[in-house]
Amino acid sequence: MLGLVLLAAIVGLGLVLKASARAISGMLVLVWAALVIAHLPIPGFAPIGRVLGGSLAAWLGLGVLVALVLIYRKLLRAIRARAADPEPKTVPKPGAFSEAELDRYARHIMLREIGGPGQKKLKQAKVLVIGAGGLGSPALLYLAAAGVGQIGVVDDDVVSNSNLQRQVIHRDADIGMPKVFSAQKAMAALNPHIEIRPFNRRLTAVDAEALIAEYDLVLDGTDNFDTRYLVNAACVATGKPLISGAITQWEGQLSLYDPARGAPCYACVFPQAPAPGLAPSCAEAGVVGALPGVVGAMMAAEAIKEITGAGQSARGRLMIYDALWGESRQIGVKRRADCAVCGPGPAAGDGHS
Ligand SMILES: [Zn+2]
Repeated sequence: MLGLVLLAAIVGLGLVLKASARAISGMLVLVWAALVIAHLPIPGFAPIGRVLGGSLAAWLGLGVLVALVLIYRKLLRAIRARAADPEPKTVPKPGAFSEAELDRYARHIMLREIGGPGQKKLKQAKVLVIGAGGLGSPALLYLAAAGVGQIGVVDDDVVSNSNLQRQVIHRDADIGMPKVFSAQKAMAALNPHIEIRPFNRRLTAVDAEALIAEYDLVLDGTDNFDTRYLVNAACVATGKPLISGAITQWEGQLSLYDPARGAPCYACVFPQAPAPGLAPSCAEAGVVGALPGVVGAMMAAEAIKEITGAGQSARGRLMIYDALWGESRQIGVKRRADCAVCGPGPAAGDGHS
């Protein structure tokens, strides 16, 4: 069996010369190939084959056996490496989604219009919601559930018994608690992966612009005209899009006001607050409980679209829902050149006073 002696000699010589494993195995493969060739039924090769010993089948078999052992070892090593190192898959990189978040937002991620990139935009978005009442309740809950990374909520009111017929973010046990903290508690319980910033105060002309400037998008669901005009003016001044909704009795409406991108501002469409008594509040006129649920959820849907860029935004469209007749309709709205808030203003006028 000169062949086997030859192979053993290569290994021995390699070890003595401290050759690399790669060099030794390279030599072994070469000699093995020569042994196989020497046993091929070629005229004149037979005597050489007899000297080297073995047969064609035996040498081929040896080669296959060694190859199988090597493949098996490689496979085993790969399996061991995977079993010993499971951590890198569960610890997310900064800004990336954890396994739990990927699972939580799976129904968003599978939507063609949102997908992974859209869900990441939601995670990076900062949305300010003015009012944690009827419209704020569903809007805040759906924004939190959708994974909006940072949600600010402004309200100076406390939860009262008569709120609970429609303001579903609050609980009976929350009566007497500031609404922003009750809302924060509910949102944190719903989604621990987001940051919530409660502002337990009424928005004022002094701080409105500075606060709104910190956010990408504003949702206004307040029930008084002073705050609505204040929020609109601050959004116009800072160039932030504003989704403003309103409800009374059986009817609600919303639009996306954004003069910085060609759409009207709130004051373009409603230049003046109605005279006192003409637009009674929910406290004065009543409101059906599910109505803010419909309109507030529509505001959240428009916010998700605005952040992710999905579909057609509500810019330039006043969407109206009449719950009593089960009807919805839309009115096209345009910027007014003489708007006191987003118009060119007196400085750029034609000189008439
Ligand atoms: Zn305007």
